[in-house]
Amino acid sequence: MRVWRNSNLAVHRFRGYGFSDDRSKDSNVYLIKAPAYRKAPSILIDPGMEWDGVEEIVAQQIISHILLTHGHIDHRQSFFDVARVTGSKCLIHPADFSLLPKSQRKKIDIQFFKEGFQIISSDIILRVLHTPGHTVGSVSFFDVLNRILFTGDLLVKYNNRVLPGPSHREESNHDDLVASLHRILHLVDEYRWGTDSVTVFPGHGGHFTLKQAQLNLETPAIPISPALYE
Ligand SMILES: [Zn+2]
Repeated sequence: MRVWRNSNLAVHRFRGYGFSDDRSKDSNVYLIKAPAYRKAPSILIDPGMEWDGVEEIVAQQIISHILLTHGHIDHRQSFFDVARVTGSKCLIHPADFSLLPKSQRKKIDIQFFKEGFQIISSDIILRVLHTPGHTVGSVSFFDVLNRILFTGDLLVKYNNRVLPGPSHREESNHDDLVASLHRILHLVDEYRWGTDSVTVFPGHGGHFTLKQAQLNLETPAIPISPALYE
């Protein structure tokens, strides 16, 4: 389903599935397209958990890159199937490589990106921001030109509430998460345009503006109760 567009780009969001019975908490699969060029390659972010969820997308698109925001299973289980079928470039931060199943790591050519790396495909330019906390190798992707930001599970939206991603798991670090959130909330301070013109696409739930994230999260206490994410 297309959820956002401007004259340059369109963002489509698909169900990535997950562990909760509540389907509104499923992970998000994003496809970024340059609509001006019908056959231009697209970028797929977090192919999700189920091959069924992405099979149709993959069949209809040329996908130049598959990017993982982090290595959790609900975001990447279908990664290997999609990579095999599309032949796309596959990238993850090296610090999350160990979260991929050992049996599959060598089956496809996985490349690494780090802070500042740029992913370029037709008219799409995404800058990699290393935003650890939820996992050590969590990243966000920022398209400065089009003012769109993909945060993975650094930010989620459950029941219409913008929340920081969970940081209570073994591979998480809450202090890093707080620092990454601070960075993201102030990402455009150096620009003249306001945070209400930046659209954030989270790892779970619908999109929102960076201003909404600031209003929800810029309080001294950042919620960490695991119950919030059940
Ligand atoms: Zn996650």
